[in-house]
Parts: sequence; C-alpha cells; structure tokens
Amino acid sequence: MYAYSIVIAFVFGLLIGSFLNACAYRVPRQISVVHGRSFCPVCTTQIKGYDNVPLISWMVLRGRCRACGAPISPRYPIVEGLTATLFAATLAVDGLHWVALPHLLLVAVLIVVSDIDLEFRIIPDVVILPTAVVGLASMIALSLAHVHAGAWYQWPIAAFGAALFLFVIAEIYERVRHLAGMGMGDVKMALCMGAFLGVAVIPAMFIAFVAGAVGGLILIVARGESGKTAIPFGPFLAFGAIVAMYVGKPAIDAYLNFVTR
Ligand SMILES: [Zn+2]
Repeated sequence: MYAYSIVIAFVFGLLIGSFLNACAYRVPRQISVVHGRSFCPVCTTQIKGYDNVPLISWMVLRGRCRACGAPISPRYPIVEGLTATLFAATLAVDGLHWVALPHLLLVAVLIVVSDIDLEFRIIPDVVILPTAVVGLASMIALSLAHVHAGAWYQWPIAAFGAALFLFVIAEIYERVRHLAGMGMGDVKMALCMGAFLGVAVIPAMFIAFVAGAVGGLILIVARGESGKTAIPFGPFLAFGAIVAMYVGKPAIDAYLNFVTR
C-alpha cells in the first residue's frame, strides 16, 4: 500500500505539474486558470488531449508545437517531472499520513511561485496568501486533532516569525545595497513557509540564504556581473523549504529525541 501510494503520487504529480504550467503562464497574464483549454502561445492552436500528456507529449513532439513547429520550452516537462518527483518524495517521507496533504499543496505552490518569480520577478499575492491561510488552518487543525505532534501555536509563531525575519533582512539589504533585492513577495512566501513547516522554517531559511549567496556568487563570476543585478530569491526560498521539509524536520526530531532522552 505504501509503495503503491508513492507511484500514485508520482502520476498525480505529473497531472498537477501540467496544471502548474498552465497557472505559471496564465496567472501573471491574468488569464483564467479554470476556463479555456491549453493552447500554443505562438500560433494559439488548441492543444489536443493526446498532445497534452505530461512529460511524454513533449518528448514525442521533440519539444515542438504540432501545428506550427514552434519550439516548446523545456521548462514545461521540467516542471511536470519535478512536481511528480517531489510528490513521490512527499509520500515517501510522510507516508499515508494526513500531513501529506498540506505538504503536497506546499510543494505545488512553491514550484509555481518559483516558476513565476524566475520569469516575472513577482510572487503573486493571489497564489501565496490563500495558500498561507489554508496552510495555517490545516496545520492548526491537525495539531488540535492530535494528528500532528506539538502545540497548535507553533504554526502561527513560525509563520509570523519567518515573515518578520525576512522583512527585517529585506529592509537592511535595501539600505545597505540601495536596491531592492528582496521584496514583500519574499516576506509573504516566508509567512507561507512558516505556516506549513513550523520550527523547520529555521533550517529552511538558513539553506535558502546559503543557496542564494552561492547562486549570487556564481552569477557574478560566470557573467561578470557587478552584483547589483537583483536575482529572484523565491526559488531559493522554495529550495530551502523543500530540503527542510524532507530533511530538516526529521533532523530536528532526532535532535530533540537525543537531548530530551
Ligand atoms: Zn503552435
């Protein structure tokens, strides 16, 4: 049953990944995500069902639109494959546990928000704020129902603590560097992460800042940039959150078991 659920999570992840691609394209362009079928962004031909199979269609079509031959970005199959892999990983870590549901939601939102941030340098409120509310409500509910260990107030404390921390960092960063490298979008993303991760948001932030610093250095060295170019921080936050969710929480649990023994 457990192994079976991981396979189902992978297939489900492929379908959700396909939906996330549509969201990442439509949300910043203010096109409805529920109405209208998928279409080629170049020739606007509707994409047939058999050409819209996640991962597989892109390979069969060799990354080109069937109607006009325009190249289709590899980011579509990448998002589908990534979503499927992380969904399977979530089930592998959480097992068939209620907490897997909010974790799957967080993974999906982190992927779509990173995708949008990479292209548009924005983290849309319409995605991140409702997710933070749902995350907070579901994690508090799981704690109150004693499905999840620990006190219910750990989730709001982590959410607002993480948001406040990033807000202060963003303010300092802006004053020292005289450019807005981090924005309110990142602050809201931290709020969302804290709501789902609880205390694991601390290693998540730490990993995000280390990854961001390394990523920034690579950019400066590789492209000879001055370091004044603002790079989107959302994908680094997402990376930290995902690593912390799969590794951080088990590590904290093991540590607490060790010191309280
Ligand atoms: Zn086309």
